[in-house]
Amino acid sequence: MQGRKPFVCGNWKMYKTVRETKVLLEAVLAEARGIEGVEMGVAPPFTSLETAHAALAGSKILLAAQNVHPAKDGAFTGEISVPMLKDVGCSYVIIGHSERRTLFHETDAGCAEKVSAALEGGLRVILCVGETLAERDAEKTLEVVTTQLLGGLSKVAPAQFGSVVVAYEPVWAIGTGRTATPEQAQEVHAHIRKEIGSKYGAEIAAALRIQYGGSVKPDNAEALFSKPDIDGGLIGGAALKSESFIAICKAAASVAGSA
Ligand code: PEP
Repeated sequence: MQGRKPFVCGNWKMYKTVRETKVLLEAVLAEARGIEGVEMGVAPPFTSLETAHAALAGSKILLAAQNVHPAKDGAFTGEISVPMLKDVGCSYVIIGHSERRTLFHETDAGCAEKVSAALEGGLRVILCVGETLAERDAEKTLEVVTTQLLGGLSKVAPAQFGSVVVAYEPVWAIGTGRTATPEQAQEVHAHIRKEIGSKYGAEIAAALRIQYGGSVKPDNAEALFSKPDIDGGLIGGAALKSESFIAICKAAASVAGSA
């Protein structure tokens, strides 16, 4: 992670009612207090954001949303805007998760609109990129990731990069229990940093945090986070239980502490 503060964020997807959110965050908060040197966040479903914001008050854990619409307001039934997310205490929004790209047909151009609106409105962004198994087998990983990366970030001004995090999430590793090896992940992370360096300069590239996501668990987190270009993780399944989420945050803190 080379001087960058690791960021571990739980993506709760469509799990946890309001009551369950309170229970999970109570358990997470009880353990999170002693963790230093790592930024921590949770992304509950929209319906739990306000409750989560209240539960997290006074803690170090940041609140993230899982999606956003680029317009400030308007006739967009079922959508949520940047000002609405700010209003309920969000600091971050996840954009371009592979489930949204695959199941809800999100495009790089659409992600770019969302990224731009989020940054303009004062939210930080986690932009997800990653290849499918077929694309990896066809040796198209780096090409696919580059297209998603530069497409999603196409409207970001250099001065806004401090509010951008990229999450490399190979689609074949999400929710499958099949993790990229630390070496496979590092190769793509280094590539992402190189592409950002070529386009935006070495300083922006060196400061950019790149999370790994895809079946991160307590027993593989430290090996992944120890790689030089991996700056924490975006955590799905393992973020739904306090013990595993906290163990992963501790793994990031331990790597950061020994760096
Ligand atoms: C995710 O949904 O972003 C994710 C990485 O999920 P999981 O950890 O369950 O693979």
